[in-house]
Amino acid sequence: MKYVDVILPLPLHDTFTYAVPPEMEEGIKRGCRVVVPFGAKKIYTAIVIRVHDVRPDFDNIKPIKELLETTPVVTERQLQFWEWIAKYYICSMGDVYKAALPAGLKPKDKDAIREKNKRRRLSLNNGTLSDISILSPLSDAQNKAYGEIIDSFDSHPTTLLHGVTSSGKTEIYIHLIDKYIKEGKQVLYLLPEIALTTQITDRLERVFSDHMGVYHSKFTDAQRVAVYQKQLSDEPFQLILGVRSSIFLPFNNLGLIIVDEEHETSYKQQDPAPRYHARNAALVLANMYGAKTLLGTATPSFEVYHAARKGRYGYVQLTQRYKDIQLPEIQIVDMKEARSKRKMKGAFSFELIDAIQDALERKEQVILFQNRRGYSNFIECKNCGWVPRCEHCDVSLTYHKKTNQLTCHYCGYTYRLPDKCPACEEKNFASKGLGTEKVEDQIRDIFPEATTLRMDLDTTRSRTSYENIINDFAEHKADILIGTQMVTKGLDFDNVSIVGILDADHLLHQPDFRSYERTFHTLSQVAGRAGRKHRQGKVFLQTRNADSDIIQQIVNNDYWGMFFQQMTERKDFHYPPFYRLIDVYLRHRDNQLLGHLADDMADRLRQVFGARVLGPDCPPVSRIQSLYIRKIMIKIEHSASIEKVRDVLTTIQLQMLEQTVAHGLTIHYDVDPM
Ligand SMILES: [Zn+2]
Ligand SMILES: [Zn+2]
Repeated sequence: MKYVDVILPLPLHDTFTYAVPPEMEEGIKRGCRVVVPFGAKKIYTAIVIRVHDVRPDFDNIKPIKELLETTPVVTERQLQFWEWIAKYYICSMGDVYKAALPAGLKPKDKDAIREKNKRRRLSLNNGTLSDISILSPLSDAQNKAYGEIIDSFDSHPTTLLHGVTSSGKTEIYIHLIDKYIKEGKQVLYLLPEIALTTQITDRLERVFSDHMGVYHSKFTDAQRVAVYQKQLSDEPFQLILGVRSSIFLPFNNLGLIIVDEEHETSYKQQDPAPRYHARNAALVLANMYGAKTLLGTATPSFEVYHAARKGRYGYVQLTQRYKDIQLPEIQIVDMKEARSKRKMKGAFSFELIDAIQDALERKEQVILFQNRRGYSNFIECKNCGWVPRCEHCDVSLTYHKKTNQLTCHYCGYTYRLPDKCPACEEKNFASKGLGTEKVEDQIRDIFPEATTLRMDLDTTRSRTSYENIINDFAEHKADILIGTQMVTKGLDFDNVSIVGILDADHLLHQPDFRSYERTFHTLSQVAGRAGRKHRQGKVFLQTRNADSDIIQQIVNNDYWGMFFQQMTERKDFHYPPFYRLIDVYLRHRDNQLLGHLADDMADRLRQVFGARVLGPDCPPVSRIQSLYIRKIMIKIEHSASIEKVRDVLTTIQLQMLEQTVAHGLTIHYDVDPM
């Protein structure tokens, strides 16, 4: 009798053993999908990870209901990669399985049975290599960088391409992709979700036509299943352009991974598990295939820049902007002074208003950056100070004027704006803080003739709405684009001469050791949007911290200065890239009980890790969706074995959850949190 151990698409740490009916014995292999019963009534599509003949020591061994294929749908290399993800990020294989396969390949219940009959051979076009059209030639600077990358790969499989904004990194990528495809290798080109627009897709499609597949979360599941199946076939795409989840696609001959905008925090999956970082996982993936990795950015993450400086990664620099577009001039506007001299109208300094006026007269375009959506951050009763808060989360609600609603940005719950203050019964609300909706209102007041577009989470719910805004602005259907950091993502608009950063301080004051690094990334990217072919762009940076080092470093484009200063602090306070962080999150409905349990867990951790354990603390938002949250932080030396750390954590987790008092407690980990 044969048995199989399978993983289910559930956050369970165990594998489950089923009996293999004789007629399936021959075809069943590791990586195949099977339909299995689970619990009293449930049926799942599971993945076989071991075929063996060891009878498990329990009765009632259930048989597999159906074998969905005899050629594995998850390859051996993929399974090894899944195992690495599960181990490193301390989650279950079930979690990885859920994230790795498109929904259409893991049907539930009766769909599983039906799905087999529905599956049909995919007929996607296959081009031949000679189809690749002629490439747009490189400039001298680009050509030099291209050559240096090829040389660097000889000694450093991972190389950083540090190129200023608008230096034409994409052109270099295209030449590299072409080289690898002609050598018969596959290429994976990763982009942050938000940067994967029709513009980049069209550009690559013109060159690589049918050799390219696109993998994007806004595509339908059927489209994603089609790409996945094609990668399993004998004629897979040579180039995959995709977002972070495309690291889970099957490859057979991967030669190169490009991680564009490697500093982007959206490469990290926050929720649910696996909380992986696609850039870091891509390095492991490349290593499995003996492939090279190119990390591209204008503002490297500290982790990557540090590794390049230490010689672990290769380093190639591109300092010249494409077509010699000059870097913009950044002018600081001291908001303290502007306010005291009454040289402000709403959120706008007079300098910025004058500059916008001039730009509009010259028929040039303007981008305004404010990293908060909604109308105001919160509303407050002018009489008694009452502030409406979410019933389920520990946050104040954001006012959205258009819908006249209060919204919780954590759980999405919406509330009607009360007619009067529930505390004092007065009807006298003030809106506090500045969201993109309010910026748009104010700009319409100041420049009634100008046309505006707004780009934030509220206006870009669908992929098309996001792209429509970009296309409309590129075609100059609007004069002013107002947006959150969405407007910073590598978009190049030819006609933008002025960029206004309305409140730089909001970014600086995030309670996070990465806030300065992030502010530098974000503001440099925003500033990089300004500049036309024949005229230097200008950026107005409004701040109350005009004299601070970080603002000066941004103005002078002094990445090195910022890096050096921040790294000293990181080293002193045991933060990445010198130490590895693991955040342990505990959640429970009962706040007091949770406090005791978190103390208990921290004590147990301290017995092993000593002073490396910090907390427990309440995170800035300490209740989400009615669950209270505590966080314990562990700072581990890089030399420490991550396997041992993981073993300790899982052992202590089991001890915690075994206690009857801990009923309802959930624990999860965030390794290398962002
Ligand atoms: Zn009141
Ligand atoms: Zn909420």
